[in-house]
Amino acid sequence: MGKVVDRTGLVYGRLYVILQMGLTKDRKAAWLCQCSCGNTVIVSAGSLRSELTQSCGCLQKERAGDCATKHGMAGAWKGRSTPEYTAYCNAQARCNNPKCDKYKYYGGRGIKFLFTSFEQFFSEIGLRPKGTTLDRINNNGNYEPGNVRWATKAQQNANKRAPNGRKIPDVLSTPYAPELPVVSSTSIPYTARPQ
Ligand SMILES: [Zn+2]
Repeated sequence: MGKVVDRTGLVYGRLYVILQMGLTKDRKAAWLCQCSCGNTVIVSAGSLRSELTQSCGCLQKERAGDCATKHGMAGAWKGRSTPEYTAYCNAQARCNNPKCDKYKYYGGRGIKFLFTSFEQFFSEIGLRPKGTTLDRINNNGNYEPGNVRWATKAQQNANKRAPNGRKIPDVLSTPYAPELPVVSSTSIPYTARPQ
């Protein structure tokens, strides 16, 4: 295998490269990409470079006449249906939108949403492990780099009972779902992600 070219942040068609997810079975770099339709896919470096893969599969579906997936404006890659993106939007609303029912517990008590992009948020927190939701490590802190994690309900309750500033040991603070396997296919649909 040659030197891995850093493709983070590059755009291939509808795919925005988020981060490297290990190697494919044939020892090529595998990249986690966000498709503009909201799906997340893992694509090999070769498929990106050769422009063989330019979407999660939605492009081919559309070309085949299946327009089930609506796309936003050109160049927009923000996911609209991944649990990660939904969590990002909801947290932003809790802090910034006084009309949100939970605003009083967040924005209303000074909690700020300090991520400036979904990309920044995602590279900080990674894929959401099953059974977890977005949590702040310091319950009185902001949504910001270093203070977010995916946590189970039990972990979050323990966190709330903790005296201020005391960090509770957490088993789910690993940045990315450890069970995510290396794949050899050029792309897998988001829904096929292992649970
Ligand atoms: Zn797509």
